[in-house]
Amino acid sequence: MSKTGLWDTHAHLDDNQFDKDRHTLCAELGEILDGVINPSVDEKSADFAIALAEQFPHIYAAVGWHPENLKGIPADFEQKLAKWAEHPKVVAIGEIGLDYYWLENEPPATQKKVLLAQLDLCKQLNLPFIFHDREAHGDTMQIFQKEIKGVRGVFHCYSGSLEMAKELAKMGFYFGFGGTSTYKNSQKTRDVLQWVPKELMLFETDSPYLAPIPFRGKRNNPAYTEYTARNVAALLNCSFEELAEQTTKNVKTLFTKIK
Ligand SMILES: [Zn+2]
Repeated sequence: MSKTGLWDTHAHLDDNQFDKDRHTLCAELGEILDGVINPSVDEKSADFAIALAEQFPHIYAAVGWHPENLKGIPADFEQKLAKWAEHPKVVAIGEIGLDYYWLENEPPATQKKVLLAQLDLCKQLNLPFIFHDREAHGDTMQIFQKEIKGVRGVFHCYSGSLEMAKELAKMGFYFGFGGTSTYKNSQKTRDVLQWVPKELMLFETDSPYLAPIPFRGKRNNPAYTEYTARNVAALLNCSFEELAEQTTKNVKTLFTKIK
């Protein structure tokens, strides 16, 4: 076991904010965490994430087209994803989802079409998804309640309501919690945390973004998963070790390619 026994289930280590110290940092992370999952957002980042996972035993990759990266998506994106998914260290399809926040993103109809194709692939390949939902809670619920069944996955950096969490939990989905859960204005997320079954809880950082308190505003990195986990342990009045053990168990239950 590593120093913390934790996993960071969502870190963009391919981001150029890590260009100067990526190798040193990734090597250090092997001591601190049990593992890190690097989701990608397009073709270039998928290739990068896979290459990084090949260099470090504790780093894994996910492949997918992020809703902010759909301009110029290749016509054969599904074949590309299926090919990458054969790699032993590709453990999920992600980061995929819906993002209605940025006006320059492709329209909802296009986003939904690509998303459904990627979710269908999760089913075919028996891989979990890593989901990004920003300002698209209604359509997200519609998709999982009406349009696609028989998939499993995690709602990363969960930002929906408690009511929505209850519906998603009924379907067996997991919830990723990161730095935002430590922010003063995130009471809604803490309400969800206090309700969510520990068997459906995962930790993440979304590095290099959204660093937890006391690093808010600085570059985030997977080592800071510990700050979120300690904050959640205090909130739930349980031990840090218990949470580390349970969430690591959850990683292996959801991401079945990780042994
Ligand atoms: Zn992300």
